[in-house]
Amino acid sequence: MNINETPQQAAFRAEVRHWIETSVPGRLKGLRQGIVQGPGLGRDALEPMEAALAEKGWQAPHWPEEHGGAGFDIPQLVIFHEECAKAGLPDRHTTGLDMLGPILIAYGTDAQRKRFLGPILNSEMTWAQGYSEPDAGSDLASLQLRAEVTGEGFVLNGQKIWTSKAHTADWIFLLARTNPKPERKQEGISFLLTDLKTPGIEVRPIVTMDGFTHFCETFFNDVKVPRENLVGELHQGWSVAKALLGHERFTHPTANPLLIRKALDNLKSRARVTPEGNGVVWDNSGLRRRVAALEIDIESMLHTRYRALTRIEKGGAPGPETQLFKLFGAELMQRIVELQQEVEGPEGIVWDHTGQGDGHGETARHATNIRAASLRGGTTEVQRNVIAKRVLGLPG
Ligand SMILES: Cc1cc2nc3c(=O)[nH]c(=O)nc-3n(C[C@H](O)[C@H](O)[C@H](O)COP(=O)(O)OP(=O)(O)OC[C@H]3O[C@@H](n4cnc5c(N)ncnc54)[C@H](O)[C@@H]3O)c2cc1C
Repeated sequence: MNINETPQQAAFRAEVRHWIETSVPGRLKGLRQGIVQGPGLGRDALEPMEAALAEKGWQAPHWPEEHGGAGFDIPQLVIFHEECAKAGLPDRHTTGLDMLGPILIAYGTDAQRKRFLGPILNSEMTWAQGYSEPDAGSDLASLQLRAEVTGEGFVLNGQKIWTSKAHTADWIFLLARTNPKPERKQEGISFLLTDLKTPGIEVRPIVTMDGFTHFCETFFNDVKVPRENLVGELHQGWSVAKALLGHERFTHPTANPLLIRKALDNLKSRARVTPEGNGVVWDNSGLRRRVAALEIDIESMLHTRYRALTRIEKGGAPGPETQLFKLFGAELMQRIVELQQEVEGPEGIVWDHTGQGDGHGETARHATNIRAASLRGGTTEVQRNVIAKRVLGLPG
């Protein structure tokens, strides 16, 4: 395993740092203090960061250069995200950039790439992901949103749920059943692009325990989708949906040990100033032991990442160990936020629901929000099944 950077990687890191120091407006720095965030900033607030990225040609770090991306390799992507994490830069609207863009590059028609890649790159068109349904989450292939095939295209009827940011997005990419009676449930599914302003779509925001709206129920009632919005072959949407975005295993906030370390550093700072008895919470050796255990786990996650990167640098593909990042990161963050609540005592469990308070109560909000980390993008139990089968080679 190589834990030292090559001269080229060190130079690239210096370039990213320089860009953050000189081109990113100061008010955007320090906004992200861990992996937990509120509902995210609006388009206007993020505009200066998008402009700085555009000037550098870094709006889509992982897209190939021929499609307007920066063409970073995986080590560069990791360095880029590490430096953004260290500077506390906020979340961008990346569903289009991270998920749909690579799918269109791999499976889209020339016309689709021409129509959608530019607006995605410039953040002029934001996207929601319509995969999950009330009876199709982990078992996604059971989805029932019906897309009747007509002369002009498709007519959608049914429902999606947990559609992140559908209340603010412009378009949605979704999986729909074009063959209601397939031999295998993975067959007869198609991947469609739909303008969220199309008549017949109703988006109902869901308010979660933390008081924010992160996702929605999305209903489709005789919604017409033109044929040209089909991505890939008719009935072959399952292969498109499964297209694995390898880079996400390295760049998703939950998989970033530096963001997780930042959250632990915040906890330690808080423990050092929070009074307890005649001293401060940090005097408690039991607490320090738990912090040490977390430090060790973060360090082992970081080194597992180095191991995966070394394998890639030597010309290999991301190894099965990358499956661990999301699972391990989500659990680490949940442990850190729970410990933070203990450090803060009563203040760690109450908050001002109006969101108009003085900043206190953020930890309680984070504690409810972070429960979602072990559900979204594949639950912890399902991840463990995958690891058992693919990493440990246990019978499925
Ligand atoms: C914050 C957040 C954002 C999301 N954003 C989106 C989005 O933008 N678009 C979208 O389409 N979806 C989104 N989702 C939905 C997410 O993908 C699903 O919640 C997830 O796939 C689980 O599906 P489910 O909720 O139906 O739970 P279920 O699949 O019903 O699972 C219920 C429980 O059973 C367990 N379980 C299920 N199957 C197995 C098994 N085989 N072995 C062991 N245990 C099992 C699960 O681990 C879980 O504990 C989001 C979810 C969250 C929390």
